[in-house]
Amino acid sequence: MRWSDRQQALLQAMGLRLWLPADAAVEAPAEAMAGPAAETTAKLAPSSPPMPAPVAPPPARLVAFESTPAPAAPATPRQPVALLAPDTTAAPDSPVHAMDWPALQAAVAGCRACGLCETRRHTVFGVGHPRARLMVVGEAPGEQEDLSGEPFVGAAGQLLDRMLAALGLTRGEAEPGRQVFIANTLKCRPPRNRNPAPEELAACQPYLERQVALVQPRVILAMGKFAVQTLLGSDAPVGKLRGQVHRWRGVPLVVTYHPAYLLRQPADKARAWDDLCLAREVMAQATERA
Ligand code: URA
Repeated sequence: MRWSDRQQALLQAMGLRLWLPADAAVEAPAEAMAGPAAETTAKLAPSSPPMPAPVAPPPARLVAFESTPAPAAPATPRQPVALLAPDTTAAPDSPVHAMDWPALQAAVAGCRACGLCETRRHTVFGVGHPRARLMVVGEAPGEQEDLSGEPFVGAAGQLLDRMLAALGLTRGEAEPGRQVFIANTLKCRPPRNRNPAPEELAACQPYLERQVALVQPRVILAMGKFAVQTLLGSDAPVGKLRGQVHRWRGVPLVVTYHPAYLLRQPADKARAWDDLCLAREVMAQATERA
């Protein structure tokens, strides 16, 4: 099997590269395309650092790459995504929940609800389409975000942008099906990039909740344990919560690893790709129903 330039570019965008047996070069026997044996002819592994053992993806992951940005309509009705977890999220209880976008932006810009206001340079409200179909929720601004006022502009943000691009999505201007909205659980940087404290998460939670309520995304992608704690109220590890569709007040929510974690643990990029594909599938199904 020969990988097209486009397929290879998409794989590289996620930081994944092809591993071909030396004697297979670029061509594999035709029967290798027919079934599970195809998995052994082309394997994915993180590009940095080099992995001693390749990670073999299921074929569906490769189909997902090939079908971006616009998958063809299926011939038969899609089966609903299974693995639905119960919705345990509570109802809103804050004046912030009545705010429109301008009021919410002003409230965040002037917020003094916790000690982070003393050390921040800029609040980081979020970016993207106000009615995006996919909403990404990260953790907290780092140094570069604090300086620029925009979320995910550092190394983790560059990986996030590549992951989104591999799905045909962007933070830049586009229609709501392609332009995502990116927000964080905290709008101010914790000093020295320490973990968010529980009282900081609690103080900032209404802002994030109002953002989700205003965007009304078809799916939320919760990246990392603090996004999960804030939205699902769960301390369970990300690795336990990913792979199923949760609910945040009725909105489907998919859990995945934080891009900063993926930079340290590139072997989990393949799992993150599965999570992104699940989020895309949920989004597509919700769009079909709308
Ligand atoms: N990590 C996050 O979770 N958010 C940012 O904005 C930057 C890094």
